[in-house]
Amino acid sequence: VLAVLITSAVLLGSVALPGLLLAADSPDIVLVTVDTLRADRLSIYGYELETTPFLDGFLGEGVLFRDARTVEPLTGPAFASLFTSLHPHQHGGTRNGLRMRDGLASLPRILARRGYTTAGFISNWTLRDELSGIGAHFEIYREILTKKRWFGLAKSEATAEDVTTEMLEWLDEAGEPAGRKPLFLWVHYVEPHAPYKLHDEFADRLGFEQVGTFSNSRKYDTEVAHIDDHLGKMLGSVFEVLDREKTLTVFLSDHGESLGEHGYWGHGRHLYEPTLHIPMGLQWPARIDAQEVTSAASILDLAPTLLGLIGLPQPPGLAGFDWSPVLTGGAAEPTGRTTYHQTHRSSVEPSEESDRLRRKGLLEVGTYKDGTKEICRPVKGRRWVFDLEADRAEKASLVELGSACSEATGAWLERVRAGLEASDDLPPPELGEEDLDQLRALGYID
Ligand SMILES: [Zn+2]
Repeated sequence: VLAVLITSAVLLGSVALPGLLLAADSPDIVLVTVDTLRADRLSIYGYELETTPFLDGFLGEGVLFRDARTVEPLTGPAFASLFTSLHPHQHGGTRNGLRMRDGLASLPRILARRGYTTAGFISNWTLRDELSGIGAHFEIYREILTKKRWFGLAKSEATAEDVTTEMLEWLDEAGEPAGRKPLFLWVHYVEPHAPYKLHDEFADRLGFEQVGTFSNSRKYDTEVAHIDDHLGKMLGSVFEVLDREKTLTVFLSDHGESLGEHGYWGHGRHLYEPTLHIPMGLQWPARIDAQEVTSAASILDLAPTLLGLIGLPQPPGLAGFDWSPVLTGGAAEPTGRTTYHQTHRSSVEPSEESDRLRRKGLLEVGTYKDGTKEICRPVKGRRWVFDLEADRAEKASLVELGSACSEATGAWLERVRAGLEASDDLPPPELGEEDLDQLRALGYID
C-alpha cells in the first residue's frame, strides 16, 4: 500500500512539464520555526498575558491561521511532514531517530531545482541529518549544537543567540550579491523546549511576583516571551539584508507542549490540543493582504501553499492543502475538511526489534473535523470524542471510553498501520529511468 502511495506521490507522468526558468520576481523565502510552542500561550491566540508582542504584530499584519494543527507532535516527524507534505506513516520518519525514506520529493528540493539556494540552520539534536534525513534536502545544513541551554553539559542544543549569529553570518554573504539566486532560508529555535529556563527580564515584564520558586508554567511563559523578543530582533537583522516587502516570511511551531493537562507534561504521546494546536502564519507584504484563516489547517499545508504562492506546480500526492487561492485571490475557505493525526513512541530504544520499529511504535490516531476531534488508542481499545467548541480543555468525552472507533477514524487507523508495515518492510520505491528523468526535470528529485 505504501509503495502505491509513495509512487503516486512522486510519479508525474500525467503532469505537463513546465519550463525550468525561475520567474524573475521569485521571492526570498524565510521559514522561522520555534520548537514546542503551543498556540494558546501567544497573546494573539487568546492568552491573557502579553507574552508575544512581536508575533502578535507579525501575524496580525500578515496571514494568521487560527486553527492549525501538527500531524504528529514530535520534532523529527513533524518537520519531515512539513517539508514533504506527507504523513509520518508515508515518509517513514515516525519516531525521533528514524530517518524518513531516501529520495522523497520535498519543498527545499523543488525550490533548489527551480534555482533557489536552500539553507537550514537547526538547533535540536533530533533534527541532525543522521537522525532525521532532513539535512539531505538542503544544500546547506548547519547543525548548531553548541551547548545545552541549562548547564552547558551536553552539546544537544543551542541558544537562540547562537543560532541567529551563525545564520546572520551566512546571510550577510549569501544575501548581498546583485543577481544572486533567491534564498530559501530555514532557521529553527529550540526554546521553549523543556527544561524550561526562567528569563528574569521577562518574568518582570509579565508581572510575575516571586513567591517561592516559579512554576514550570510561569517559566514556560518567560521562555515564550524571550523567543518572541528574539525573533523580533532576528528578523530586524534579516531585513537589513533582504527586502521585507518582497520576502515571503513564514512562522510556525512544530508542535505544542502539555503543561500538566491530562496529567501529562511534554509532547509526543497524545493528540490533545496543548500539543496538537500550533501557531502558524506568514507575511508577504508586497503580495498578500492581512487576513485571518479560521478553517482547519495543517502543518502539511505549508509546502503546497508556498509552491502555490510562488507559482510552481503541485506535485501529485501531497497530503496538504494549497491555501494560495484563498490568500491571494479571495477564494472561499474550504468547508468540512478533515485533518488527520497520529502519535508514536518517541525515541527508538536499543532493545527494540529493528524490523518492527514503526508498526510497534504506534500509540494514537486522530481525526478533526468541524470542531470535533476523535482520538483512538488502538492498543488499549480506547476512544475519545471531544467537541472543541464547547470543551476546549477536552475534559468530557462524548463517547464511552471502550467504544469502537468511528468508521472514518477506523479507516484512518488502517491506512496508518498499512503504511507503518510497509515502511518497516519495503525498500524505497523503485522508479524507472524515464520516471527519474521526469522527476529531475521538474525538480522533484536530485
Ligand atoms: Zn519539537
